[in-house]
Amino acid sequence: MSKKKPERPLPQSLGLPFAGADSHTHLDHEGLLPDLSGMLQRAAESGVSLIVHMFLQHSRYAANRQLILDAAASLENAPDICFVRGLHPEDVLEAGEEEWENLVHAVKNDPLIRAIGEIGLDWHYEEGYSPSELQRPWFRRQLKLAKELEKPIVIHSRDAWDEVFQMLDEEGLRGWPLLWHCFGGDVERASQVVERGWHVAVGGASTFKANGFVREAVKAIPLDRLHLETDCPYLAPVPWRGKTCEPSLTVFTADCLAKELGMETAELWRITGANTRRFFGMEKN
Ligand SMILES: [Zn+2]
Repeated sequence: MSKKKPERPLPQSLGLPFAGADSHTHLDHEGLLPDLSGMLQRAAESGVSLIVHMFLQHSRYAANRQLILDAAASLENAPDICFVRGLHPEDVLEAGEEEWENLVHAVKNDPLIRAIGEIGLDWHYEEGYSPSELQRPWFRRQLKLAKELEKPIVIHSRDAWDEVFQMLDEEGLRGWPLLWHCFGGDVERASQVVERGWHVAVGGASTFKANGFVREAVKAIPLDRLHLETDCPYLAPVPWRGKTCEPSLTVFTADCLAKELGMETAELWRITGANTRRFFGMEKN
């Protein structure tokens, strides 16, 4: 007897308004780059009106910035796009002064770069990863840059909660426009972020069965500081879990969390979309 594969609903089938946002993407990942315009079209058709893309290395920024903008411009209806630029903890191993100068130059001169990120600490891997003695100073240096240039910050923190809080507190960043990306904590962790005045972005992993504590924590986040993200091509939400993730799939995270919050999906979609526009200075005139 052959087992029938389960039918997965398409993101367009949720019929959400063109008002949502994917606040964290890696569109230039090798798995996504070949179908950039198709991906952007599906995002628009699913209601994603803004995509925030992370540029983490100068070489990729130089190679792909225009490519991404051209792909969007080629479509009749495309999401707005803005960028975040920084050195990910994984990339600091290779980074030198030239990389730094390129980063500073881009952040100062590119009007589409709206924040510095994703930056932080990542203690998840022990071997073959950037050592802590490199991660810490690069993180701090970028925090100081964000302060100097008055730029919002996007945080990447993995297995490093307390140390990241400590460093951000030492840099006097309470109340700073700061978005905690890929939030995967419980109610207490959410409170620690929220009490400092920061924003929280929740991704596909929040829809996984085992992550009920994350869905619980989302209830502790003020609605005007909640953002949705994919972190694509990673962490596709249920019912696309395990597949390549892309911005259109943000709608399933919205759907899951809206049920949790007792809201209409379209309402949460509009609210989080507006939050992301506001945070990254991408409001429509
Ligand atoms: Zn990311």
